[in-house]
Amino acid sequence: MDGITIALSKGRIFEETLPLLAAAGIEPLENPETSRKLIIPTTRADVRVVIVRATDAPTYVQYGAADIGVAGKDVLLEHGGDGLYQPLDLKIARCRMMVAIPAGFDYANAVRQGARLKVATKYIRIAREHFAAKGVHVDLIKLYGSMELAPLAGLADAIVDLVSTGSTLKANNLVAIEHIIDISSRLIVNQAALKLKREKIVPILDAIASVVGSGAVESCAVKS
Ligand code: ATP
Ligand code: MG
Repeated sequence: MDGITIALSKGRIFEETLPLLAAAGIEPLENPETSRKLIIPTTRADVRVVIVRATDAPTYVQYGAADIGVAGKDVLLEHGGDGLYQPLDLKIARCRMMVAIPAGFDYANAVRQGARLKVATKYIRIAREHFAAKGVHVDLIKLYGSMELAPLAGLADAIVDLVSTGSTLKANNLVAIEHIIDISSRLIVNQAALKLKREKIVPILDAIASVVGSGAVESCAVKS
């Protein structure tokens, strides 16, 4: 396919990417929140958007089913960066990966005593690396839904989760105690597509970079 396919997830990433795409003259012709279509044409005949689950964006781009995508740093850390070029931090969908515990749980003491902590999370890889680096022994419990419930229901001592305002933690009597990493969304590009469709992709990256305000796109330095 000659055109460009962009993988986006519904919700905050789609909303916050819209103004960036507009800078490249790309405006989706339908709203994925109301349309059931998963392939959305844009104001540019040679560019289409595919609507994917946030965690699937790297997979679509890695295999070349999409040329470009947007994915959270959290998703990229869990997925691994194989086959993906990550030229640009879009500085959207910003939040922080944190360790949180029930208010009143003496985490520091449990860690000091070498206790084996039960940690529930959707982010197994990030959590494993974080606790390994601190030398804290943990049993990781993989969850797919609301992690805040796990300590309240007695499933885990702590959670590793994304925090933005902290209001969900607060509402469930949890407190964030360790900051693991700042999270924002990145542009991801299929490496082969960048070479083969360079004349189409590079101007899109440049237009986006100019509105993100982070200067030159590193990918332009890649040899074709
Ligand atoms: P779903 O909510 O449909 O189960 P998801 O949580 O993977 O899927 P989103 O909620 O759209 O998808 O999150 C997409 C990305 O936005 C995440 O990967 C993360 O980088 C970022 N994000 C998640 N929660 C927040 C938040 N509360 N504030 C800001 N950014 C966030
Ligand atoms: Mg979500």
